[in-house]
Amino acid sequence: DDAPEPSEDETTAAPQPVTATDVKVNVSIPDAAGRASETGADGVGLLRMEHMVLNLGKTPSKYVGDHGERAYIDRIVEGVQEVAEEFYPRPVRVRTLDAPTDEFCNLEGGDDEPKEHNPMLGYRGIRRALDEPDIFELELRAFRKLYELGYDNVEIMLPLVNDADQTAEARNLMERAGLDTDEITWGVMVETPASAMVVEDIADEGVDFVSFGTNDLTQYTLAADRNNENVSDIYDETHPGVLALMSRVIDVCDERDVRTSICGQAGSNPEMVEFLVEEGITSVSANIDAVADVRRRVARVEKRLMLDHARRKE
Ligand code: PEP
Ligand code: MG
Repeated sequence: DDAPEPSEDETTAAPQPVTATDVKVNVSIPDAAGRASETGADGVGLLRMEHMVLNLGKTPSKYVGDHGERAYIDRIVEGVQEVAEEFYPRPVRVRTLDAPTDEFCNLEGGDDEPKEHNPMLGYRGIRRALDEPDIFELELRAFRKLYELGYDNVEIMLPLVNDADQTAEARNLMERAGLDTDEITWGVMVETPASAMVVEDIADEGVDFVSFGTNDLTQYTLAADRNNENVSDIYDETHPGVLALMSRVIDVCDERDVRTSICGQAGSNPEMVEFLVEEGITSVSANIDAVADVRRRVARVEKRLMLDHARRKE
């Protein structure tokens, strides 16, 4: 037959260890689905929607009403489908839109966007979705279509949530858009200190999972802009203040059977991974290039924990 010869790399690569903690992969662009899948990841821990939507060339508000809702919905459906198909039946966690206002400025309609001094602290993520339910609804209709097409491996993740009220409001909008939140798998990102401190209330709203967005959680906890070189030495994802928040969230969620995950950059950092596996996180999600290393690190930590337990060293 004409199957391609395995490459040198494939024949010599060590088999990946089996881990109890899921090791997933982050995907920012649907075109990367194939490469992401080849890592052998247990799913996609974060599929960003920004690339799909911003590439349309117009701001989302330009699609509402008679202005081509179908095109907007179809773009999201096609983008997610590319990844969900590649990974099926492995789960694909899709995050609803989280673009700061300055990222829209070069698009058609960008002049109508609010001008903000500090877009990272501004009108983005769930706060904007709740304030503009007509636009959010287009995203939710895309999810409904994906479920109708049979992609039951798609999960919905809400960005920049602060509290239970926002979670409940988003859940109501999902229900109103025809999504059964008892049936689907959905959850929120923990990327503000507030969400970490009230995660028990968020859990009570029926989320299936929470996922640490450490890029934002770090900048908001340490008051250090993640894009400002002048404070890059302050910006430390492994700062004890950041770790304490994460530890608290894992404990609370563990008691309530809410799954925990990480999808920020720090999920590719072996020290962070070690800390989180010891704390009992359910899954970690890493960049495509880091998945194999993270998997090996997770396996090593799990083995040590098991041996320690067996030898009653705990
Ligand atoms: C994060 O904040 O860690 C995250 C994954 O989201 P983004 O980088 O898109 O803000
Ligand atoms: Mg974030």
